[in-house]
Amino acid sequence: MLDDMFDYLSTLRERPVWQPAPPAVRAGFGTPLPRRPTDLADAHDRFMTEILPYAVGNAHPGFMGWVHGGGSAVGMLAETLAAGLNANLGGRNQIPIEVERQIARWMAELFGLPASASGLFVTGTSMANLIGVLVARTAALGRAVRQAGVAAQSDRLVAYTSVCAHGCIAQAMDIAGLGIENLRKIPVDDRFRMDPAALQAAIDADRRAGLRPFLVAGTAGTVDTGAVDPLAALADIAARERLWFHVDGAFGALAMLAPALAPLLSGIERADSIAFDFHKWGQVPYDAGFILVRDGAAQQAAFAASATYLSRDDRGLAANSPWPCDLGPDLSRGFRALKTWFTLTVYGADRLGAVIAHTCEVAQGLARRIQAEPRLELLAPVALNIVCFRYRAEDAAAADRLNAAIVLELQESGVAAPSTTRIGGALAIRAAIVNHRSTHADAGRLFDAVLSIGAQLTGQAPLPPGRDDAEAAPSPARRAAESPDHADAAPPSRADRATSEPHVLP
Ligand SMILES: *Cc1c(COP(=O)(O)O)cnc(C)c1O
Repeated sequence: MLDDMFDYLSTLRERPVWQPAPPAVRAGFGTPLPRRPTDLADAHDRFMTEILPYAVGNAHPGFMGWVHGGGSAVGMLAETLAAGLNANLGGRNQIPIEVERQIARWMAELFGLPASASGLFVTGTSMANLIGVLVARTAALGRAVRQAGVAAQSDRLVAYTSVCAHGCIAQAMDIAGLGIENLRKIPVDDRFRMDPAALQAAIDADRRAGLRPFLVAGTAGTVDTGAVDPLAALADIAARERLWFHVDGAFGALAMLAPALAPLLSGIERADSIAFDFHKWGQVPYDAGFILVRDGAAQQAAFAASATYLSRDDRGLAANSPWPCDLGPDLSRGFRALKTWFTLTVYGADRLGAVIAHTCEVAQGLARRIQAEPRLELLAPVALNIVCFRYRAEDAAAADRLNAAIVLELQESGVAAPSTTRIGGALAIRAAIVNHRSTHADAGRLFDAVLSIGAQLTGQAPLPPGRDDAEAAPSPARRAAESPDHADAAPPSRADRATSEPHVLP
């Protein structure tokens, strides 16, 4: 099984980024509960033929959709060890918890928070943002809110984030019982960053209306364009107004690892809580989200509960309190810390920073080519690693239809997999360069394929012969990718990668 996965990772470029699963494969997963055993080798065979080829493909260097990390072989091996150990990190007296605590201290060091900050692995930033909202809520209203519930409060809590914030902030307000309509979406400037003056005005208006502002959620790296809110200005306002300052740094927070990018995040060191993912820019295999809270006591106040079957001791297995289960809603929890600890230890933080910086360089290179190409249009400034652009058309509606069609054609071609978003109402092709394996040549393949598909769909280039026969004709995008321009894209040997390409993790 390990050999298969090493082969998979070392032959990614020979595979389509993604391909739709044949109906028969999908139907194979509709069979009833197996009552009798199956050979392990047969189950493995089904994995190789029916599961592996039809995954999303985010390990592939051509995958640029949404914000997905590429993972690494080191993370995979560590995950195997963790599964073998089968540690339950809810609590108790065990060194695996020290591994998780060490990562919390490393992250406090990285972000400039005190060593007393507490941290917790969760599934992802959606959950980390929810925990941030719940800790802020309990800090604002006191522990008693956990008994009485928010419905019993006379104060109506109001939170602030930008119009470009991720939807999971609103969802966190919903799940916390605070209500989505009590989240103010503050306007952004021409670079999609929250406008601090508008934030101040919204807080003032809510106070005049008798509401109770309690939380500002800034974003370090918005999901649409990678914009970083002016965190220092938000921290000033939060301090003056006595609000909890939370940062959603799902992917962007780890830009702190790259010295050239870290100044963009100035002000993050003043956050009360930071939510981020190791599974995006950190290249740790899914899932590995994290919440870091400046005041560890505040995090405990929001979640710790007493139960006789979870009582603590100063000796034996029940020692080592507080436990991770005191810091969040999960009791049984896996050893997500181990794959993260291996990734940080084996590659080192500087190398991960070089990976992150390199993805931004690839994005900048792609943006330059787009700006130099009259048929294409850059739709947003490239703050970090996300490029939003489109193929020009005669009017807005035609451009939306054309670019949506280009993205579908691209995804089905297997050459590259961007996603879409809307920028100022316009449908954009959105390429997020997150994977350490993605190079300038991979971005070049996307660029060429967009031009070639766009020309064909607008009738500027003849359709390739036999295009109606999907089986017989390679897609236009695949043909573009096979052009000799990309002879430089041959994968380097494993040894070369380790030495000459510090942005590719061996
Ligand atoms: C990805 C992302 C999230 C959600 O994180 P998950 O790990 O997918 O739960 C939240 N905010 C931003 C800015 C993101 O990019």
